[in-house]
Amino acid sequence: MPNDLYNGIVLRVTDYRESDRILNILSRERGLIAVTARGSRKPNSRYAAISQQFTYGEMEVNERVGKLQLSSATVIESFYSIRESYEQLVSATRITNAAEHVAEHDIPNDELFVLVYNALSVIAYGQNDPKDIELTFFAKLLKLEGLAPTLTYCLKCGKDLRSQKEVRFSNSLGGSVCERCGSAFRSVSALSLEAFRRMMLLDIADLRRVRLPENVRSELESLIYNYAEYVFEFTVKK
Ligand SMILES: [Zn+2]
Repeated sequence: MPNDLYNGIVLRVTDYRESDRILNILSRERGLIAVTARGSRKPNSRYAAISQQFTYGEMEVNERVGKLQLSSATVIESFYSIRESYEQLVSATRITNAAEHVAEHDIPNDELFVLVYNALSVIAYGQNDPKDIELTFFAKLLKLEGLAPTLTYCLKCGKDLRSQKEVRFSNSLGGSVCERCGSAFRSVSALSLEAFRRMMLLDIADLRRVRLPENVRSELESLIYNYAEYVFEFTVKK
């Protein structure tokens, strides 16, 4: 049987048996796949470099009775610097965890692949605060998955909220609510909502330009994660 060729990002690495590893890979061609890298924990294994979280590479895989096994691998991008900075590592790990959670086995999702690749690339090589890239990743992921919250009008009375300084936000309603209708919900500044809107719509090529003011960053960190955890049903901060 001929081998298949995949371009993929290693989202997770798990030790398996005595000297193997299982790589959970987000592949461009086939979505999420689990590939066994035999002997990759042995010294001098030719799979040592590919068997690192965040690594992007080209992999030749053979498939027997539904089990995928690595037969050769070329590292294209190791994103090595992510492993040298605690902040980068935390942000990149949240990104790969979320990608693994939403990606589907054997179903390609090119937009998701491009989003993950670019986010890791800017975290590794950009001059940005990794948190800004991480938050933009989550904003765009919500949009991509069809779960973008409403941010411009009240979900209860329909009032346009774009001229308001502060509005309320409800996870269960799916976005913004006016002061009068939603006094029990958390409040959010207009500035943060505007930033959130722009992040969802941002062209991925402009990811390097994201620079959030400190107060917006901390407000959105709580708002976006809270909402993402609610709609995706998983824990961002593990
Ligand atoms: Zn209202």
